[in-house]
Amino acid sequence: MLKSLLIANRGEIACRIIRTARRLGIRTVAVYSDADAKALHVRDADEAVHIGPSPARESYLVGDKIIAAATATGAEAIHPGYGFLSENADFAQAVIDAGLIWVGPKPHSIRAMGLKDAAKKLMQEAGVPTTPGYLGEDQSPDRLKAEADAIGYPVLIKAVAGGGGKGMRRVDAPQDFADALVSCQREAASSFGNTQVLIEKYILSPRHIEVQVFGDSHGHIVHLFERDCSLQRRHQKVIEEAPAPGMDQATREAVCGAAVKAAKAVDYEGAGTIEFIADASEGLRADRIWFMEMNTRLQVEHPVTEEITGQDLVEWQLRVASGEKLPKTQDELSINGWAMEARLYAEDPAKGFLPSIGKLEAFMLGEGVRIDTGVQEGAEVSPFYDPMIAKLIAHGPTRDDARLALAEALDESIVWPVRSNAGFLVRALEHPDFAAGTVDTGLIAREGEALIPAALPSDEALADAAAAFAEQSLAGFRLNAPPQRKVLLAVNDELVAVELPDDAADQSLALDDHAEPEPILLSEDGQTWLVQPYRATGAAAGIAGDGAIISPMPGRIIAVEVAAGQAVAKGQKLVTLEAMKMEHTLTAPFDGTVAELNAAAGAQVSEGTLLVRVEASPE
Ligand code: ADP
Ligand code: ADP
Ligand code: MG
Repeated sequence: MLKSLLIANRGEIACRIIRTARRLGIRTVAVYSDADAKALHVRDADEAVHIGPSPARESYLVGDKIIAAATATGAEAIHPGYGFLSENADFAQAVIDAGLIWVGPKPHSIRAMGLKDAAKKLMQEAGVPTTPGYLGEDQSPDRLKAEADAIGYPVLIKAVAGGGGKGMRRVDAPQDFADALVSCQREAASSFGNTQVLIEKYILSPRHIEVQVFGDSHGHIVHLFERDCSLQRRHQKVIEEAPAPGMDQATREAVCGAAVKAAKAVDYEGAGTIEFIADASEGLRADRIWFMEMNTRLQVEHPVTEEITGQDLVEWQLRVASGEKLPKTQDELSINGWAMEARLYAEDPAKGFLPSIGKLEAFMLGEGVRIDTGVQEGAEVSPFYDPMIAKLIAHGPTRDDARLALAEALDESIVWPVRSNAGFLVRALEHPDFAAGTVDTGLIAREGEALIPAALPSDEALADAAAAFAEQSLAGFRLNAPPQRKVLLAVNDELVAVELPDDAADQSLALDDHAEPEPILLSEDGQTWLVQPYRATGAAAGIAGDGAIISPMPGRIIAVEVAAGQAVAKGQKLVTLEAMKMEHTLTAPFDGTVAELNAAAGAQVSEGTLLVRVEASPE
């Protein structure tokens, strides 16, 4: 077994790998950027090496610095985690050339699966069913359009170098093809530096089914059953589970068998995932599940497989990298119960899933579930990396046990002042279709608004808060004298009039001592609000409503949709900003005119920049 290991990653996955390494008695070395100097993974590791400035391309993506850090600390091996350099075959080769052990598949296996078109061709040769489509060299728009027509709409245009749900466009009708192609190629060029695309039949009622595979250097390959990752937003996974609902034994054997065949075709070693797309219009059927791509690394959602199989996949990776045989044979592996994982993001579902950054003043996640996280209370969520801050994983005897335990843990979570998607996750878990296991990848897009948590706490919760403040009493707190008994509360940055319960109103009249009630954090259904009594001066300064559209984080303007002086309607798009790998559209808060415009396409803006000021139309 290895004696020392450098982890070329950050966040929850770095902490996760360190945990297993420590249990196995392996010395751990972390690497970190400026922004991560105080990060949890740095504290958890035995040693840590600073590798550069905050942007990933100057630190976590610089292979030479990472190899130098391993050499300097005498680390024997490098584990890449997921993302960053994990699927970079040149880096894997450089690690090996430096005399270090690469915890991952051989570079030629990574290369074989690196581009989606080449991977699909290889799978076809190996006899693995693939989605029907065009994989050709001829990339002229006319040829691509002709191929799409022949496949039949809807089709999906995919960047061959794509990943993370980027570089994909669904096209429903022939007349939309040309525009979709241009926009797909533009995104592919900027994100992956490669404009090559393939065209696939768009599968209707699609479910994302994937199989965990594992190989060792002695020629053994096993699978650890399937996961279902159909609950997605913009082609990115949100909630994952294992096993897949509605999977019968024969179908499982077929799809897991195909996955093992795929792994054998690329001489696979270590942890990998074969992703399939299933047409679930008539349930899961072996003849309607097709290979989509292979991820040649540990996957974000690997914990659900760990929970149902009782295996530690990071331990498996480290044993295989040390030259040992796989810890279990196929016959020794079985499924125990059900596991479900939710990805907790620092983002605000109510504001178009805008990433949220800042200090985690409160970070308390619910109990009774496994939590894999890379942050703790007091940590900073920076704008430089992926906004995933934790994964919550529930395991129980049945799917409903796992689902309800997960919903409860999310429901109890308090995250503040950074916003989180916990409330959104609770609603997704409680959605009747998801509860019934009849999910497909379009559920979130279809349900849209219904899954967005309420903007404000319930009337009951606000009335309780108002009553609590009334008990502490504050003269200026009362808006109206009885009988209306209404008070104004500042809830985050909004003013809300709340009706006081009868008894509380009486109390507030009785006391008039100018005590200063403390603001409280109110948490309900996974959402957290700062609530305080509104005082006409001071306390609620900064309340929105002046029509100033401020850049919520550092980013780049990618489109300006309005001109100065233009009349705009509430909700109309003003400016699109790209930040934290995502696009965010800023919209008009009310009807009015564009009184000020400080945004130009292509410009880099810092957090807090006034981009647009909308002046309200006269009533
Ligand atoms: P898939 O690629 O099929 O979506 P995962 O769900 O395991 O598989 O996603 C890989 C993860 O790696 C995602 O969470 C993604 O945000 C993250 N990731 C991808 N590229 C990078 C990168 N350059 N830096 C940091 N994280 C990344
Ligand atoms: P990435 O590398 O970005 O993970 P994938 O090829 O794995 O790209 O596709 C991501 C997601 O897009 C899938 O999980 C699925 O939801 C959807 N998708 C991909 N191919 C198809 C298809 N042919 N039909 C329908 N949906 C698809
Ligand atoms: Mg994928």
